[in-house]
Amino acid sequence: MKTTRRDFILQSALAAGALTLAPALNVLAASNAGKKLGIALVGLGGYAGGQLAPALQQTKNCYLAGLVTGTPEKAKTWSAKYNIPQKNIYNYKNFDSIASNKDIDIVYVVLPVSMHKEFTIRAAAAGKHVICEKPMALNAAECREMIAACKKHNRLLSIGYRLHFEPHNMEMMRLGQKQIFGKVTALDTGNGFKYGGDPNAWRLKKALSGGGALMDMGIYSIQGSRYTLGQEPIAVKATQEKTNPVLFKEVDETIFWELKFPGGAKVTGKSSYNNNWSYLKATATKGNFELGPAFGYDGLDGKINGKPMQIPNINQQAAQMDDFATCVNLKKQSRVPGEEGLKDMKIIDAIYRSLNTGKWEQIG
Ligand code: NAD
Repeated sequence: MKTTRRDFILQSALAAGALTLAPALNVLAASNAGKKLGIALVGLGGYAGGQLAPALQQTKNCYLAGLVTGTPEKAKTWSAKYNIPQKNIYNYKNFDSIASNKDIDIVYVVLPVSMHKEFTIRAAAAGKHVICEKPMALNAAECREMIAACKKHNRLLSIGYRLHFEPHNMEMMRLGQKQIFGKVTALDTGNGFKYGGDPNAWRLKKALSGGGALMDMGIYSIQGSRYTLGQEPIAVKATQEKTNPVLFKEVDETIFWELKFPGGAKVTGKSSYNNNWSYLKATATKGNFELGPAFGYDGLDGKINGKPMQIPNINQQAAQMDDFATCVNLKKQSRVPGEEGLKDMKIIDAIYRSLNTGKWEQIG
């Protein structure tokens, strides 16, 4: 029998225990709240085409209503594939005229990092609510400007942190934050992949990406540490390794860090463009729990005290976008607002400072 996403959410919540049931049921209860909202994707690259547009075919509270692209050929193929009317297609120059388009409620920024601030601010000024992909911006100062602009225009801002809607990661939050096995005393996490892509890609250009694997992959490990512990780190010390200084001339290849949390847990993490890592492991006073793979789109798995978690995977992007549409309809802050993106950028900024100074750097 075909299982619907709704069933999946409910099953996941049940599998994960009563404490995660509450947010999952909120999603269900709110799933019919208000009208189905129109989303315009800005930047029709790998993530928009491979994940977000397909997910928008499964969403209940929102749908793919518009496109913003600098490439006319992409506008043509996408509009044919997804049945998008010409009046809902924009380029980067005429984007601001989206203000008068009633079909578009939410703008989803899926561009290189250096363009996140500009398009988030322009979208908010055009009266649209915004989802901005991770990492939120080049640095914490830009994040603050984006948050302020959305506040000024009274628009909701959310970051594309899909794992906050993913049942295995939600289980890590529950086990850690509720101290189901006592206080978490140690946490180790890593995220990375062996970069085999275009040597001229924006990801390898500092001006466009802000940094390398730390910005792109390490951010998930930083998030994982924060949401498993339910605390904010106060200081960080980092070191780095570069095996290919030609390919990674401008950006970091592999970084190792240690985060100091107020609760005293020993938290280590690493990010890489030269290693396939995806794990999040927590040791608590009375047990341990872990995910591996922890951060991908699908096939996530985990163990609690050595036993399989047995939680189904869901379409994370569909759950994330449906939740934001519900938040817009209910005029309620997302569980992953701009402030959440800012917290990670403050940590990333401090990691880069620590690489320069070789010392512990305060996060703040
Ligand atoms: P991509 O290179 O595949 O796509 C980028 C898009 O931006 C392309 O359509 C490109 O044409 C357009 N673009 C506009 N100006 C550009 C310029 N000056 N240089 C290069 N491209 C330009 O990248 P992507 O993997 O889709 O990543 C886009 C964003 O999505 C990034 O912020 C990335 O971190 C994020 N992302 C998030 C996830 C996730 O799981 N949440 C996964 C992948 C990517």
